[in-house]
Amino acid sequence: MFFYLTVYKIAFHNLKNFYFLPVKLFTMKKLFVLSLFVSSFSFGQNFSGFTGNSAAIQSKAEETFLKQQESERYKNHLKNLTKEPHIATSKANERVRDYMADVMRKAGFQVEIFPYDIYLPVMPGTASAELVEPIRLPLNNKEYIHKEDPFSNAADLYQGYNAYTGTGDVTAEVVYANFGRKEDFEKLKALGVSVKGKIVLARYGGNFRGYKAKYAEENGAAGLIIFTDPGDSGYAKGLVYPEGPYYDESSIQRGSLLTIDWTGDPLTPFEPALPLDGKKKITRLKPEEVKGMLTIPVLPLPYGAVKEIIGRMKGQAVPSGWQGGLPYTYRIEGGSELKVRVNVAQKREIQRVYNVVGTLVGSENPDQWIIAGAHYDAWAFGATDPNSGTAMLLALSESLGKLSQAGYKPKRTIKIAHWDAEEQGVIGSTEWVEQFRDELNAKGVAYFNADGAVTGRDFGAASSPSLKGLAINTTKSISFPDSSKSVYDVWLGRRTTPEPPLGNLGGGSDHIAFYTHVGIPSWGGGTGGHSIYHSNFDTFAYYERFCDPTFKMGPLVEQVFGMMALRLANADVIPYDISRYGTDLHTHFEGLQKLTKAYDKSASPFSFDALIKAADDLKKVSEACEAALKTANEKNKKSINQELIALERQWIDKEGMQYGSWYRSLYASPDPYSGYASWMLPAFQYEASIRETANLKKWEQKYLDAIARLKVKVETITKLAK
Ligand SMILES: [Zn+2]
Repeated sequence: MFFYLTVYKIAFHNLKNFYFLPVKLFTMKKLFVLSLFVSSFSFGQNFSGFTGNSAAIQSKAEETFLKQQESERYKNHLKNLTKEPHIATSKANERVRDYMADVMRKAGFQVEIFPYDIYLPVMPGTASAELVEPIRLPLNNKEYIHKEDPFSNAADLYQGYNAYTGTGDVTAEVVYANFGRKEDFEKLKALGVSVKGKIVLARYGGNFRGYKAKYAEENGAAGLIIFTDPGDSGYAKGLVYPEGPYYDESSIQRGSLLTIDWTGDPLTPFEPALPLDGKKKITRLKPEEVKGMLTIPVLPLPYGAVKEIIGRMKGQAVPSGWQGGLPYTYRIEGGSELKVRVNVAQKREIQRVYNVVGTLVGSENPDQWIIAGAHYDAWAFGATDPNSGTAMLLALSESLGKLSQAGYKPKRTIKIAHWDAEEQGVIGSTEWVEQFRDELNAKGVAYFNADGAVTGRDFGAASSPSLKGLAINTTKSISFPDSSKSVYDVWLGRRTTPEPPLGNLGGGSDHIAFYTHVGIPSWGGGTGGHSIYHSNFDTFAYYERFCDPTFKMGPLVEQVFGMMALRLANADVIPYDISRYGTDLHTHFEGLQKLTKAYDKSASPFSFDALIKAADDLKKVSEACEAALKTANEKNKKSINQELIALERQWIDKEGMQYGSWYRSLYASPDPYSGYASWMLPAFQYEASIRETANLKKWEQKYLDAIARLKVKVETITKLAK
């Protein structure tokens, strides 16, 4: 699953010349003084954190790095990774595992494979649906074979199914629940429509599919059918596959339904699901002890099948906003003459999965880690999701290997990681984070997520505050292919805003454990475009026709990831964007004030003024700190960097969030009601979501304490810098 790219589509607009010019154009002395932490934007080179001649060396290293990228290398990796369908636990996925390990070893990385034993569905199981009344009609639940796409005829492609569905064979009347969000089920209740004992029909979108199933089961439904509505991703959007990039009537979005109170393996919250036959024994919960595992049968269907149901429903017309793109007036209830059968069987067992991690050990600070990762398991061929990102990471490992051989070994350690079983619940990455939690706490500088990072030409990104400056400055130093513009200019487009849209990281992919459980600054980005998401048509053929026929975007995204990693790895002082904490906190608190004001009708409504003042004070001391760091005291460099690495950790609260103590960051969390969206300052978001005021004071104190901790750290750094 990947989300942030689709949200931040960037349009191509205004022309401004922008090139990355070699350093020599200026007198060395003038340049060094200039670039000593002075963020000059001339020529887009901003070497924040570099002193003395390290800026010149970095500039040479970057020049050398930017010559490494090749479309052919990227294309070949993508082709090799997506030769066969490779779902987690399959032999095909082990072949992908070995391919990646081999490529990174050859590139000069130390490669380790980390096995975990996870409580997973035995995929695909069986899943079918049919009309029973008024006629018997089996409903198609597998993609058609299109001659234009040779991959669509592969023998080992599965029907549509959802991971972690319940098992059952039910026949019942149907009720349409729009997107199946919390508010949609509340609307049905308000309309006096019960889903008890019925089969619910819900369209994709609006929230994480697992919550559609959770709410359907909580409301007593007998089963659930989820479908991609053509109004959202089909013929209403444009030409459908194979003529165009949109879902045709046989395309099915597969996906997980897991919605438990933590991320990762269902049986080992907080602990790594180490091999059962391994030395270190891990206590596992019994499956029946895990709250929130689904029992009702659920399956996804293509809209070509769902039209057979929707076209025969007899009840009242839907409320506004619920109408979809099928050529019928959508109705809430199907009526007693329409019966549908859903028959799903899916066992769950402990099964082995593997993460592959390559390490380029830092020459000066081996205990400071920059990690770039993406999952490699897919629902079928995975050309866009996830392997467009995997291919980029493999090409990056080769380019960094060559750079090291050319004498530019990174000073800090760079790790390139490939996670397994992400599609089932962000599992592989989470188990690795839980296994190395203490080390990551001490050594984690940043995590970059590349899940499905190259699916088109629209550059976009989402980030934690302290990496925003780095992302912006780095994209100013990279040219966008076939144009005279920088990535930054393309990203900014016609906007008149001071900066391009940099979203907030939330849920939905492998950054979750790094960012919201340990508190490691995280960033995700790449080029967005079309994706026939989680269907059997997400193939190399689809990619070559509708994502990037030039294969120039893979190399571009590699340059962005590589340059950001190299700047973090080689800077004398880690170039975090410290003052961004205060800026973003101010914005988020103002937003929360509006949110609570909407329902807090008490005599003295809760005020965020004290928190906003604390955020502004933090901003002031952070700006003073950034000024002091420009002429940082060389001999305190090591302590300064240790303190900088500890900054984001100040948000970690051991008690965690109200809706799951595993989510320990006070700053960011996946939205527990939708799974994808991001909740900034989540404890307050949660209280607002249940329209509660009683606990606001308690959380105010927690946030004031966290901001005070951050402030103390920043002031310590300022002192060290002087
Ligand atoms: Zn993905």
